[in-house]
Amino acid sequence: MSKLLFWVLVFIVALIVWRLWNIRQWNARRRHDASSPPKKKPGRDEPMVQCVRCGVFLPRGDARLTHNGYRCNDEACNRHD
Ligand SMILES: [Zn+2]
Repeated sequence: MSKLLFWVLVFIVALIVWRLWNIRQWNARRRHDASSPPKKKPGRDEPMVQCVRCGVFLPRGDARLTHNGYRCNDEACNRHD
């Protein structure tokens, strides 16, 4: 019986250590995120436009404007021009 109690105790201690480790990791990550401002990717705020031919959405800067509307730069989409 005391052997069983010992293993239960070991299990509980392991669980507590694991929990503490997780919390520490999580806190460290949160501190790291707070200290470094989120990097802004260029063109992230650009409005999305839809290719009139294939229907794919892409940033307006990557699209080209034709008389029909925006077109993507996909080779397959522009092959039959
Ligand atoms: Zn397209």
